[in-house]
Amino acid sequence: MKLHRDSLLSLIVGGTLVVLLPLLAALQYRWLGQVSEGEREQMKAGVQNTARRISEDFDQELTRAFIAYLSPYEKLGDESSFAERHQRWLDTAHDPRLVKAVFLATNNGSEELSLRRFDPAANQFSSQVWPEELSSLPSQLEQRLKAARAAFAQRPPQIPPAPTLSPMLNGDLQALVVPITRFPQLGSGEQRPEIFGFAIVQLDAKFIQQEMLPSLVKQHVDVNNYALTIISRGESKKVIWQSAARDFSNPDTTQPLFGLRPSEIRNLMRNQQPTSNTVTPRMPAMSPFAGGGGGGDNRGWELRIRHRAGSLGAAVAQVRRRNLLISSGILLLLVSSIGLLMLSVRRAKKLAQQQMDFVAGVSHELRTPLAVIDSAGYNLTKGVIKDPQRIAHYGSLIRKETRRLQDMVEQILEFAGVQSGKQKYELQPTNVNQVISEMIISSQPLLAEGGFQLETNIASDLPAVMADGPALTRAVQNLLNNAMKYGGENQWIGITAQAVASGKRNEVRITVADHGLGISAEDQRHIFEPFYRGNEVRAAQIHGNGLGLSLVKNIVTAHNGRVTVESTEGKGSQFTIALPAIAEEVLQASPMKTTDSIRV
Ligand code: ADP
Repeated sequence: MKLHRDSLLSLIVGGTLVVLLPLLAALQYRWLGQVSEGEREQMKAGVQNTARRISEDFDQELTRAFIAYLSPYEKLGDESSFAERHQRWLDTAHDPRLVKAVFLATNNGSEELSLRRFDPAANQFSSQVWPEELSSLPSQLEQRLKAARAAFAQRPPQIPPAPTLSPMLNGDLQALVVPITRFPQLGSGEQRPEIFGFAIVQLDAKFIQQEMLPSLVKQHVDVNNYALTIISRGESKKVIWQSAARDFSNPDTTQPLFGLRPSEIRNLMRNQQPTSNTVTPRMPAMSPFAGGGGGGDNRGWELRIRHRAGSLGAAVAQVRRRNLLISSGILLLLVSSIGLLMLSVRRAKKLAQQQMDFVAGVSHELRTPLAVIDSAGYNLTKGVIKDPQRIAHYGSLIRKETRRLQDMVEQILEFAGVQSGKQKYELQPTNVNQVISEMIISSQPLLAEGGFQLETNIASDLPAVMADGPALTRAVQNLLNNAMKYGGENQWIGITAQAVASGKRNEVRITVADHGLGISAEDQRHIFEPFYRGNEVRAAQIHGNGLGLSLVKNIVTAHNGRVTVESTEGKGSQFTIALPAIAEEVLQASPMKTTDSIRV
């Protein structure tokens, strides 16, 4: 009844787990999906933010250079103020090396622009040919000059025009360019403002590439996880700088840079003392310095960032796969631990059951010999039996039952010794022939009493084995006792012993066979377990405690050997102990002769 309840309970637990585990797995899968999506969004926002900060920092520095040298609210044509402007740049710049040179390109009435370079040491401009890096600039500027003059002629501006961004910033050439205009002084009689040249701040490309950008990027990005590039947004799409050679055609984020920052302009303007040359600037509501913002963005460069895994999506998918693997591993661990737990509970239950059977079996086993000894003793002491022959019979009966009891106690003690680990075997070179013959001699009374026919086939020259003699005798004796117990009506027992080559070594095989009950395939799997008794022998109420074969196995294993069984139900069984022989040179021929058949 209890067993039934237990198995019902394990069925319910097992069923619940079968339903719960896939549910848990599905929930976990979904949850991981959501987490990954969240993570992707977060990473995307992070990388966009990083790009914005790099762009801001770079543009702020650019804005400083612009305001220092080229503030359009001052009269750029006034050459004497450039020393002051240069000093302003040195005071405000994070690193003044950003500016390589400052030029004025003026036309002095002619169509052609002539170039002069500012020499800070001498504090003056000196003529100069157009440098190689700026060689494309004169034609662009001359065209622009023409266009501006035409525009001024058509509709003269009243105040200095706010510089439009595109001509000022040349991403390809890495230069800031601002037109120089002159306005008529009040009462001077001049009619209209005039544009007569450009001020140019040339940036140091080498410094930007080798120092400024790397340190800026290092400040904001983990370059082990992200690759960055900066390309020019002009026609050329020139690569200005890149952290690693990658394909940036599908970046995770892009961010324009190389533009002026209105907030920085306002800050710098606020701190700047008005000079005598200052003219009133026109501050449009939407500053053209914004470099785009809501409308068109004409900043000169573009920053592209890409995750090292290929894209943020790929990186998140990678992490998701890893998380899935870990969580499935945990689930698997959970399932296997539950499985193991259930298995060990079942084992523990089975063991408890076997121990109960053992106690019941031993008590039963004890009862029979004790009853026989008791009644025989009673009859003898009461003088009921007078006949000397019968007295001798009773005496031998008492001895036989006492021996059975002794055997049983020995087995239980040995089993307890094995379980506690105290049972030790002293292995030494042992003559197997001697062990077997002594065992047969000591068993002869029992064999004779049971009327067994013992057939032996024992090689006379068996090699010696390393063994504990008494333990090996007990093991073979156990097999012989079982053959007598379960040998059935046929009453034939065979003992063979021979040396067999097994792989590289020789072994001695001792076989005890009978033509008795045989053992079912199911029982064969368990008979070497302690307390296990075959179903059939329990049903037939054949005495035993289920310890014999487990002790045989234990002894043989301790001798580096093995014990096997071959059996067919109803036809008989054959148990074989195989022990490794001692090396050839130590082998000694046994003095025993082979006995073919002994009728006992
Ligand atoms: P016991 O004999 O006390 O039951 P053992 O450990 O010696 O315990 O044997 C375990 C079981 O193996 C037996 O109960 C029996 O079912 C089976 N068995 C052992 N030897 C034989 C044999 N020669 N023939 C048939 N069954 C056997």
